[in-house]
Amino acid sequence: MKYYAKPLARLINELSRLPGIGGKTAQRLAFHILSMEEKEARALADSIIEAKQKMTYCSVCGNLTDTDPCVICSDPSRDRSVICVVETPKDVVAMEKIKEYNGLYHVLHGAISPMEGIGPEDINLKQLIVRLQNEDVRELILATNPNIEGEATAMYIARLIKPSGIRVSRIAHGIPVGGDLEYADEVTLLKAMEGRREL
Ligand SMILES: [Zn+2]
Repeated sequence: MKYYAKPLARLINELSRLPGIGGKTAQRLAFHILSMEEKEARALADSIIEAKQKMTYCSVCGNLTDTDPCVICSDPSRDRSVICVVETPKDVVAMEKIKEYNGLYHVLHGAISPMEGIGPEDINLKQLIVRLQNEDVRELILATNPNIEGEATAMYIARLIKPSGIRVSRIAHGIPVGGDLEYADEVTLLKAMEGRREL
């Protein structure tokens, strides 16, 4: 990046490391940031630092939160007998948007993928077992993504949990195969939840 003075080159470089941001977009964003008022630019920088410092993972469900336990885990109006298992915190947001689900969540932070060497011990599964042993859970809804890794993960958890007598269900295939839960629209996700079948 010899065309740019060092501070600008650094900004472009940092921006281009973000997902979905190519070199051209990084350049456009960097020039935009330079044209901003200083207080606007500072607010942007501060928001990044604040989010990074204050956001953590809920020690109960693994969701992103600024309080521990998170607002969902500590909400007395939620149905504590149902846990919906998802891959990422973004999936929790997608589920919450449909406003129909009132149970708790468990975020795995990934999915089992033998191809990539990700095994059951590499995702947030142990904590789920601890919860099922200590809390009065009647149903586990497996809402992992409808791709190979998500299905493998759902099957693994179902086999692990079924002997305990807890009802284990899988969301229906309203979501296109290979698609991500977070990109499913609210109606599709609601249908997938309503049409869940017991494993
Ligand atoms: Zn939580």
